Amino acid sequence: MIKSLIKPLITSILALSLVAPAVTSAVASEEVNVYSARKEKLIKPLLDNFTKESGIKVNLLTGKADALLKKLELEGENTPADILITTDAGRLHRAKTAGVLHAIESEILIKQIPENLRDPDNQWFGMTYRARPIFYVKGKVKPEELSSYEALTDEKWKGRICIRSSNNIYNQSLLASMIAASGEEKTAKWAKDFVKNFARPPKGGDRDQIKAAASGQCDIAIANSYYYAAMINGKDEAQKAAANTVAIFWPNQAEGDRGTHVNVSGGAVTKHAKHKENAIKLLEYMTKPSSQTWYAEKNGEYPVTADTKPSKLIQSWGEFKADDLNLSALGENNATALKLMDKAGWK
Ligand code: FE
Repeated sequence: MIKSLIKPLITSILALSLVAPAVTSAVASEEVNVYSARKEKLIKPLLDNFTKESGIKVNLLTGKADALLKKLELEGENTPADILITTDAGRLHRAKTAGVLHAIESEILIKQIPENLRDPDNQWFGMTYRARPIFYVKGKVKPEELSSYEALTDEKWKGRICIRSSNNIYNQSLLASMIAASGEEKTAKWAKDFVKNFARPPKGGDRDQIKAAASGQCDIAIANSYYYAAMINGKDEAQKAAANTVAIFWPNQAEGDRGTHVNVSGGAVTKHAKHKENAIKLLEYMTKPSSQTWYAEKNGEYPVTADTKPSKLIQSWGEFKADDLNLSALGENNATALKLMDKAGWK
């Protein structure tokens, strides 16, 4: 899969270049360069505030996650990037394995970010987190009928489940978490039975699964929580209506069970960063309560720090127990997860 991506990636990489920010202070001798898989409007105001507070100019390059990682690899020690911001621990781990990240020491990051949401070797740090719960069509499914990801293999769900394809990292990471919880063999069997219950061959993104459920193609959809938030908060009336036909169910909440699968968006200092100190300062800045509130809310995610609450909308979904697996396991189990999905015929 990675190989087939390289050609189009290189084409898109050539089109990418670091741009100076629109907001520059009169004298900005200090700077930091950021490669971000987060869209500009979802991060730039935060970076601008950092500049205001610290006097450190931020040069931002946004792009697709896989393209940015490839770019970092190709540039090697000539990279201008000091920081990589991307989503999914599976991808952050991929960057670590590719050798493009640098371990950093920061008491603030260690104190502010829960241990399971950062790399044990301090090479990447979760900055916000998201859950991957079950969404069910109100009136068609009673929440009492649901319990765990594992239970979705029950025959009663035959032809009723919508989920995107296996080439997406979110599902790979979900499977990786299940491998960590119950081993390869059990997860392989689960994947086989789960695929049998699909309402249709996987297609589209996470929002499309919720839309398909709303339009009657399935009764259950799996999607990341921030897509649900974006559909509810967005201007697209059809998406809003679709989101309102489903409700959220937090799986694996039973006593002794591990909790709902979560993942992060994160940040890392690059191996060849020329402005390491500034890069660390920026990551630390991102864990301040005001930054966490803005960044999490803007992206429909949960803040990682204990001193910050999620948005009103997210609070309205209720509290849930999150799987506290160290997310580096998602990266470590990624290849196995992909293999199992392949074997199960998960398109
Ligand atoms: Fe996403």
